[in-house]
Amino acid sequence: MIDIHSFLLALGIGNIAFAVLMAGYTHGAAPSPGLRLWMWARFGIGLCQLLGWSRPYLGVPSLNGIEGAGWILAVSLEVAAYCIFFGFARWQRVLLPVSALALAIVLAAGSAGTKVAYLNALVAMVVALFAAAMAWILLRPKRRASLLQRIIGVNDAVFAVSVALWGASFLGSETVLGQRAAHEYAYIAGYLLMIVNGFGFLLLCKEKDDAEMARLATVDSLTGLPNRHAFLERAEYARQAALRQRQPLALAMMDIDHFKQINDRFGHATGDEALIVFARTVRETLRAHEAVGRLGGEEFAMVLPGTDLAGALAAAERLRRAVREAIVITSGTPYTMTVSVGVVVLDPNETLGMALARADHALYEAKRGGRDRVEVGRLQRRA
Ligand code: GH3
Ligand code: MG
Ligand code: MG
Repeated sequence: MIDIHSFLLALGIGNIAFAVLMAGYTHGAAPSPGLRLWMWARFGIGLCQLLGWSRPYLGVPSLNGIEGAGWILAVSLEVAAYCIFFGFARWQRVLLPVSALALAIVLAAGSAGTKVAYLNALVAMVVALFAAAMAWILLRPKRRASLLQRIIGVNDAVFAVSVALWGASFLGSETVLGQRAAHEYAYIAGYLLMIVNGFGFLLLCKEKDDAEMARLATVDSLTGLPNRHAFLERAEYARQAALRQRQPLALAMMDIDHFKQINDRFGHATGDEALIVFARTVRETLRAHEAVGRLGGEEFAMVLPGTDLAGALAAAERLRRAVREAIVITSGTPYTMTVSVGVVVLDPNETLGMALARADHALYEAKRGGRDRVEVGRLQRRA
């Protein structure tokens, strides 16, 4: 048997402690979207629980309606926090009217002196509805939810069911559980909600921040291509796979011709636009298992697994022609650009750095030979 009254005090203190912790965390730092609202939701829920605990001591009937309204406000804030966190558009259009209506009904019922049991049942149903909405947000079937997200979503669903049963038990209807059991079940679910959602929302924020950090560390922000580090990692992975599977692997270095002139003639912003067009053009000519990365400036590289020299030359030629045909739109006359390419097929005895240096040398030859052309990097074999 749980001492429900003391349990409510512990829940109230726990939720407020969470809110205070979050206030400290968000102070001065740039918090994840929704975290501040979520903190206020925790604070509100904690206050309502403390109010519920103090009800027998205070004995003020009008507080019943206020406590119910507080619950609805706090749970609405929590739903809003999730909507903001997941970037829902126009969530206010649904949430605000529903919350306002629920608040008005509960406040009116409270001031009309409705029996506490009915008031509790009404508030419980609204809270259960909001908790079910949170579960839906986290477990939406169309979205691939992370394991963490699913755990929190299931917890919200459990809470929604338990609060609904708790509410139903006030109406005198014999639920599957007896009234006492329904109360205990709801309080335990409330405790789980405090712990799982408390830490869960924070971990969700961290999960999102980590994913964003990983993206920033590996993706070139201008072109959206893998940056130098990410490309080299991918190419090395492809090299090792090629050696293991005894498959050929082609590499190419590319450099846009006379890029400085593009910048000088049209300005740096148009130069940037040219880089974006170039990246898009290259990506479109590649197959799914092939990769391209921006090594820096207007220099790019690509890796073509399972491709021999003939295949690599054909791919490089295809790319060279596609770049010639790609049009960069400017405020003035649209213009086109050309690219020089150095191609090599990996030798099993060389490192990735050596193969790329060979490709770079071939690229230099292509520039010397007049640009807008593809050159092959030959292996320098010692006699
Ligand atoms: P070449 O045909 O020999 O390759 O001549 P180039 O002018 O392309 O060669 P160079 O390497 O001398 O010039 C590269 C220019 O690219 C210099 C630099 O200002 C410009 N650049 C590098 N990064 C960026 C960028 O992110 N945006 C823009 N707009 N320009 C860039
Ligand atoms: Mg260049
Ligand atoms: Mg260059």
